Amino acid sequence: MKARYKYRIYPNHIQIIKLNQLFGCCRYVWNSALAHCNQLYTNGHKRPSYVDLSKQFITQAKRELVWLKEVASTPLQQSLKDLDQAYRNFFNSCTGKRKGIKVKPPKFKSKKSRQAVRFVGANYKIGQDKIYLPKVGKIKIIWSRPKPRNSSSVTIIKDSAGRYFASFVVETCAEHLPKTENSIGIDLGISTFATLSNGEKFEAPKPLKKNLKKLGKFQRKFAKTELGSKRREKARVRVAKLHAKVKDIRTDFLHKLSTDLAINYDTIVLEDLNVSGMVKNRKLAKAISDLGWRQFRTLTEAKCKKYGREFRTISRWEPTSRKCSNCGFKGGKKELNVREWTCLNCGTFHDRDINAAVNILEAVQPKTKVEIVKGTVAKNPVQLSLFNEVAEGQPETIKRTRRKRQTEKPADSCDVSTRPESFLQQRSV
Ligand SMILES: [Zn+2]
Repeated sequence: MKARYKYRIYPNHIQIIKLNQLFGCCRYVWNSALAHCNQLYTNGHKRPSYVDLSKQFITQAKRELVWLKEVASTPLQQSLKDLDQAYRNFFNSCTGKRKGIKVKPPKFKSKKSRQAVRFVGANYKIGQDKIYLPKVGKIKIIWSRPKPRNSSSVTIIKDSAGRYFASFVVETCAEHLPKTENSIGIDLGISTFATLSNGEKFEAPKPLKKNLKKLGKFQRKFAKTELGSKRREKARVRVAKLHAKVKDIRTDFLHKLSTDLAINYDTIVLEDLNVSGMVKNRKLAKAISDLGWRQFRTLTEAKCKKYGREFRTISRWEPTSRKCSNCGFKGGKKELNVREWTCLNCGTFHDRDINAAVNILEAVQPKTKVEIVKGTVAKNPVQLSLFNEVAEGQPETIKRTRRKRQTEKPADSCDVSTRPESFLQQRSV
């Protein structure tokens, strides 16, 4: 099992210049090789192999361009290998060999965005509080977690906020934690980030929403600066730093929550949400992106693997919010603003999110269900639409009929009067 460990590094003034030189050389090699491949493609030729590209854009180029010799050569080779891989991923995605999201063809690298170079093999050395990179020197590093052992490569990253990181790929073993005999279903939502099937709720920090005003201010100032000026660069860094902060808050929350869940539960069940499809809705895009659903799934899946837990997903078409988790009766579709409802078959009072979370868990681990009483179901569909209308703020008369219905519950059904309080208590957890 492979893992990535990231540490912050603090290069000094001279090292920053040398690193920037290295970033520039790798970018040059990548961009010129890519331009060459594109040219061959338009002329109807085949894509050259990695060996051919390396001969032309590293060995031969070094004879003409002196500055290419001033930097380490492994990162240059690695950037051509990356280009080769990028092409292979693109072609495999076109032919259907590679599954998942469609991969786009490789793009030209820009000086303005995030920069990264990779060292492999015995090229770099790790010290007490320094990391040695060839032709750059010993850079100060903060070991924020135990040092990586037997790392196969290190990637030096400069993000757009101007921070430097060293990211190691290490081979780790899965540590199997003792069984807890607990399984959990998780319903992801916008108002409450995650609702567990045991009633626990987790609120998301929503960092973008909190910083939106500030971000707008910074972006307006950036837009007013003159192109190519020093002030523009300063303003750009300020925007990038705020974006980095937003991202860090979100990632921190997702890491903590996913670790917590993976430690406490044997089986974790999630709904297979079509996040990239949902983000296409302009009204919801910002709110959904601020939560990081997809990242949460990726992290939870990886941590389940790490701790020897079972990770499962259920189909997105499963009727989790319209089904009663107590008796299995399927009501109609509920609008997003209906947060609580009462089952028309068994009379159980449901919190929408908790009910969905229980359904998500039960889709994987079914338990014996209460029989649906057929006689009562047939008459009900018309009244179900009333529930939706009540929630949307309809006149008092309809609300009264709803309350009346709740009080007229059969004796064997769940005690409605006590249920709402119990949910309130769970909410404050
Ligand atoms: Zn029911």
